This record gives sequence, C-alpha cells and structure tokens, in this order.
Amino acid sequence: MRVLIGGGSGFVGRELTQVLRSQGHEVTIVSQQPGPGRITWADLERDGLPPCDGAVNLAGENLMNPLRRWNESYKKDLFSSRIDTTRSLVKAIASSSSPPKSWVLVTGVACYKPSQTAEYSEDSELTPYDFLSKLVKEWEGTGHLPENVAHNTRQVIIRSGLVLGRSGGAMKQMLTPFWLGLGGMLGSGQQPFPWIHVADLAGIIACSLEPSSDPSRSSPELYNGVAPARNTNYEFTKALGQALHRPTLFSVPGFVIRALLGAERALVLTEGQWVIPKKTIESGYKFQYPDLKSALQEVVGS
Ligand code: NDP
Repeated sequence: MRVLIGGGSGFVGRELTQVLRSQGHEVTIVSQQPGPGRITWADLERDGLPPCDGAVNLAGENLMNPLRRWNESYKKDLFSSRIDTTRSLVKAIASSSSPPKSWVLVTGVACYKPSQTAEYSEDSELTPYDFLSKLVKEWEGTGHLPENVAHNTRQVIIRSGLVLGRSGGAMKQMLTPFWLGLGGMLGSGQQPFPWIHVADLAGIIACSLEPSSDPSRSSPELYNGVAPARNTNYEFTKALGQALHRPTLFSVPGFVIRALLGAERALVLTEGQWVIPKKTIESGYKFQYPDLKSALQEVVGS
C-alpha cells in the first residue's frame, strides 16, 4: 500500500511511518519543507494527489510549544495549520481521478468538555464551548469528503488523548524535570488524564487505513484514541515517578500553569475528560499498552 501522510515528519508521523514500512508499505510525507520521500503542501496544491492507497493528516502547529505565547497570532497558526492542511488534502482527494481507499484524520479529545463526572464515548454529543473544542469541530468538519467520493473512500477520524512516547510530545518535555526529582502533579491532580502510547495511536491509524468492512457507509467512522485505563493526573505523576525511581513531591499550582501557558491552553493540563475508547475496542483493536505501568516502562526503559 502507498500511504501519504500530511505532517508525517512529526512525533506521531515518525512512529506511523516506521510501523507502515515494517509492514512493507510505502510512505510519502507532505511537509512544509522539501526533501527525499516528501512533497510540499505547495506541490500538493499545484500537482494534485500523488498515487496513493491511503492518506492521513497529522499536520499541526504544536499546541504545547513552550516558545510561543498564547496570543491571537499563535491561535491563528494552531487553527490554520490544521484546517488548511486538512482542506488541501480533502480537495486533492476529491479531485483525484483515482482517490485513495482510506482517509484518516487525527484530532483531539479537547472536543469533550472537561468534567470529573461525565464519561465520553464516540457516541457523545459535542457542544463546542471554548477555543480548542471549536477548533476540533471545524477541523473534523473540514475533513469530511464530498458525497460522491465518500462512497469509495473509507473516512476515519481518531480523537487522540495526550500521546506518550520517548521521542516527542509532552513526555519529551516532562522527562528531564521528573528525572531530576522535580516532577509533580499539575493543579489538584484529580483531573482525568486521557492518554495513549504512541505505538497504539500509530497502530489504530494503520488499522484505519485498511479498506472498509462496510463499503456502503459514507460518513466518517469515529474512534477515541485513548488507552482503556482511567487515570488522574495524580496517578500519572506517581506512575512516572515510580518508573523513573524518582520522588514526586512537588505540585504545580493551577494559577502558575495558567500564567505560563495562558488560561485556554492551561485547561488541557489542569482539567481533563474521562474518555472511553468504546468503538476502538469494538473494532477489535488490541492495545499494546492498555495501562500506565506498561506504557511508562516502555517510554522510560527504551
Ligand atoms: P507534531 O507537533 O510533531 O507536528 C506534526 C507536524 O506538523 C510537524 O512535523 C510539521 O511537519 C507539521 N507542522 C507544524 N507546524 C505546521 C504549520 N504551521 N503548518 C503546517 N504544518 C505544520 O505533532 P504530533 O505528531 O505530536 O501530532 C500529530 C497530530 O495529532 C497533530 O495534529 C496534533 O494536533 C494531534 N494530537 C497530538 C497529540 C499529542 O499529544 N502529540 C494529542 C492530541 C492530538 P513539517 O515541518 O514537515 O511540515
């Protein structure tokens, strides 16, 4: 299978590329930068979709970029890097004379309103309530293929929790302070902490690239990309400390996180959602890292 991955140079894309290549598939990345095995977004716009059997979009400005202040310009970049790249891929798929058999978009669980009591499955109703949930709603809406293409191309949306892996994402920033014994829980620590190991997110994407088992379906299939375990931020903090054999005595008060990141962005860390991967499990996907202990042992030990 030939797979085109928008934003495939990033944390999740590198893992997915490795998984697909190990299965004998060919990967081409769509990137802002030209290079071997890549096309640029301008190439895609100009030349249309290269021959491919599956397409994925993972492109997006990093939400937790510590070097960027939370302001209108950053919010605009977070929005356009996701919506514009998704729109470009949808347009290229829709105008291709031989569209791919599958189209996978990875978004986030920020679409679900933080709560310590509500539980969200893929069937839950969404009512956008803040910047990030509005972003996810528009992102997913932009990802819908037009009716005439949707009958031939399987559409999948995966709503990911915080992705754990050694080579990128939040763990890359967290490992050093935890290793130094300076790690601690965020805010009250009681907030839900929806997470997934990067190998499982790549595994779910790879399964989603397989042809549909229900070819009559024209609407996107939705999967929550989170581990089945239910953990709070406190439990995550303790488990990471144990995996590293380091104390976790400190806690970072919510107001400090809000001051550092901006209130809207801080919500991702200081509040959370109980997200259930109901449809993901029903699909038959078997998690490699269903619990925090096994996931963190892999991250820390590798
Ligand atoms: P990365 O931060 O690693 O970025 C992925 C790629 O996006 C980059 O390699 C880059 O590719 C491209 N990119 C960055 N900025 C822009 C921009 N302004 N315009 C166009 N492309 C850009 O992301 P991850 O791999 O961690 O995540 C993949 C997707 O999953 C993202 O959409 C993210 O929002 C989502 N997600 C990730 C989570 C996580 O914890 N990591 C949690 C929930 C959702 P290049 O420079 O080659 O163009």
